[in-house]
Amino acid sequence: MIEQAILEITAELSQARNIVIVPHKGPDGDAIGSSLGLMHFLKNKGHNVDVIAPNEYPRFLKWLPGNDQVMIYEKDKTKADELINDADIVFALDFNHLNRSGDMQEVLTASQAVFIMIDHHREPSDFANYTYSDAEMSSTCEMVYHFIDKLRAVEKITPEIATCLYSGIMTDTGSFRFSATSAETHRVIAQLIDKGAVNHEIHNNIFDTFNENRLQLLGTALQNLRVLPEYKTAYITLSQEELDKHNFQKGDTEGFVNYGLAIEDVIFALIFIENKQEGIIKISFRSKGDFNVNEFARAHFEGGGHNNAAGGKSELSIEDTVAKLNSILPDYKELKG
Ligand code: 5GP
Ligand code: MN
Repeated sequence: MIEQAILEITAELSQARNIVIVPHKGPDGDAIGSSLGLMHFLKNKGHNVDVIAPNEYPRFLKWLPGNDQVMIYEKDKTKADELINDADIVFALDFNHLNRSGDMQEVLTASQAVFIMIDHHREPSDFANYTYSDAEMSSTCEMVYHFIDKLRAVEKITPEIATCLYSGIMTDTGSFRFSATSAETHRVIAQLIDKGAVNHEIHNNIFDTFNENRLQLLGTALQNLRVLPEYKTAYITLSQEELDKHNFQKGDTEGFVNYGLAIEDVIFALIFIENKQEGIIKISFRSKGDFNVNEFARAHFEGGGHNNAAGGKSELSIEDTVAKLNSILPDYKELKG
């Protein structure tokens, strides 16, 4: 983000403003962590700030400081529309196309507010007045730290802000193991610990709070795992019936897709999760090394994301979606040999 933009944003923020912060639909740890981290920062500066998430998010994020202030658009549309219409500034966090805001797209498109986008996905669109986009970054939370730094306000980072930003960096980097984790990421993390993020508590709150149903659903997922060694690929399926049997709650399958990559020589992992209500199969794609799942998801499954982590969907049955995968894989010679 260029110096001129920072000067202009500093001027925008020099008086009390009505600010709305929006994470992407199906918010993850990075989306909620960055939204709440920025919310605390802006509130402490005297602004009137609301976080409006397009829809619900996982239970394992609901302990984050400020969680009770997140409004869910699907549940509170009338009030949320009012807040967006009254907003002077809208921050779009962890997404770069307005269609990733789900049902909020319409009201956001009509809004006259100044839009500031902070995001680390590839191929940003240009809906915002100010775009801070960097696909080399580990996470939007790391970028919010740099944004605060650019505003020369690192000393204003409280333990609440540090906790929120640490959480999103940790979840988006798979606990600091994915390739986007840089030395700079670790330097930011060290700063956040200095500012009051208690790393072992955060790890416990996010990863070690499964209930019995969720762990048994993982058991079913692992039973369903299939490996295609000839394509260095592994996939998991979960039917609606299997989800229902384990009283599936939003977020319960988070991280399951990564187990495929734990198999030696596997570089491409997928999970197919049936959603009967929406009539789709939601797909997550993960890879190691150069195999680009963002392109794969865009080309075949109406999705996108990052080089090594992407999402998409299919309107076929689970069986037909798996058959489609099997028919596509032979076209990818980088998966062979
Ligand atoms: P997940 O598999 O965890 O849902 O998503 C992995 C990554 O891909 C996330 O960064 C997410 O924002 C992105 N992503 C997930 N689903 C979609 C989608 O349908 N379209 C696009 N463009 N990106 C997605
Ligand atoms: Mn992210």
